[in-house]
Amino acid sequence: MLSWDHRPRLAASRERAWVEINHSHLAHNVQAIQSILAPDTQMMAVVKADAYGHGALTIAQTALQAGATWLGVATIPEGIELREAGIQAPILLLGAANTVEQVQAIAQWRLQPTLCTEKQALVFAEAMDAATDPLPVHLNVDTGMSRLGVPWHQALPLAQQIQRSPQLHLASVYSHFATADDPDLQTLYRQRDRFQQVIQTLGAHGIVPPMLHLANSAGTLVESSLHYNLVRVGLAIYGLYPAPHFRDSVDLKPVLQVKARVTQVKTLPPHTGVSYGHRFVTQRETRLAVVGIGYADGVPRLLSNRMNVLLRGQFVPQIGAITMDQIMLDVTDLAEVHEGDVVTLLGQDQDASISADDWADTLGTISWEILCGFKHRLPRLSLSAPPATATANPLTLS
Ligand SMILES: *Cc1c(COP(=O)(O)O)cnc(C)c1O
Repeated sequence: MLSWDHRPRLAASRERAWVEINHSHLAHNVQAIQSILAPDTQMMAVVKADAYGHGALTIAQTALQAGATWLGVATIPEGIELREAGIQAPILLLGAANTVEQVQAIAQWRLQPTLCTEKQALVFAEAMDAATDPLPVHLNVDTGMSRLGVPWHQALPLAQQIQRSPQLHLASVYSHFATADDPDLQTLYRQRDRFQQVIQTLGAHGIVPPMLHLANSAGTLVESSLHYNLVRVGLAIYGLYPAPHFRDSVDLKPVLQVKARVTQVKTLPPHTGVSYGHRFVTQRETRLAVVGIGYADGVPRLLSNRMNVLLRGQFVPQIGAITMDQIMLDVTDLAEVHEGDVVTLLGQDQDASISADDWADTLGTISWEILCGFKHRLPRLSLSAPPATATANPLTLS
């Protein structure tokens, strides 16, 4: 008798709980953002952190097909994963790389590092074989984020050091906004002015970088004067707005949905405690539904007793402590509930929807963190195939 390993099928199925990725929405978002870009501005799809929890490879493929030309990652393994899968687009490493081994991996996999210090430039130059092509490096200038980057008033000597090094090629100068999602644009304009000042100073010394870039999602939506040659868009391609006041600037559709199945339905008498700590006690005879998803899947435990889910198109309260693998719902007011019913935790069910912003607002955090929080125990399932490119049509005659 043949043994049958159920694991691969169960791990990738809609049996328990899963994340659905809508690639048509992703392509729509990429194209919608592109339609507001300044002419000749390219788009980088930022796919760090496994594409904000969406699955880096399929997101990168769809974003590139939809018109993005660059990819952004945070770590070297994130970049290698894309290269190993055959992705050819330029990949910018937004995080730091400081060691010879890291630079060798970067060169081997044709990733493009961020450079912020003179010491780094020395290590990079030393790690690169003089015989090979120069390593494209991207000079990150700190204009006010106070994170990675050379302070703006010290950018010139570092740019000159890169120019003098035959092993390095200055591929771009960039900076990153700290407050682009704030309706008050004063700090953003101060950063933009410092960036302009850097460009002028470099130019006065004969250094004209082939590319300049400054805008994240929020900066991209503020105004086209911030677009330069490239925009680095993360959150917005996943269909979320960096802040509510951007809702009218472009039409975005959420890419990710989180769903799980009802695994048991039963009736509890009044005054019955529910889940660990009995942090919910029934007031009335209560119809209870157990659902197979929990905090180990990325449903924050701090949402216990504070979230609704969607079931048969209705909002239904979650009750009691969220446990590692399961949550409970009060479904007393629903006409019908059955084991196997699909519960939507994030996403759309008939006319109702729940967004990562709803969770973030309840928790006092940001949607970025909610999206990144879904664990790999949840399979990522594609709701729609990545769109075919026009040139793939076999009926097109040349
Ligand atoms: C993460 C990141 C981005 C993308 O930010 P979003 O707000 O998600 O668009 C852009 N640039 C840098 C340097 C980043 O680290």
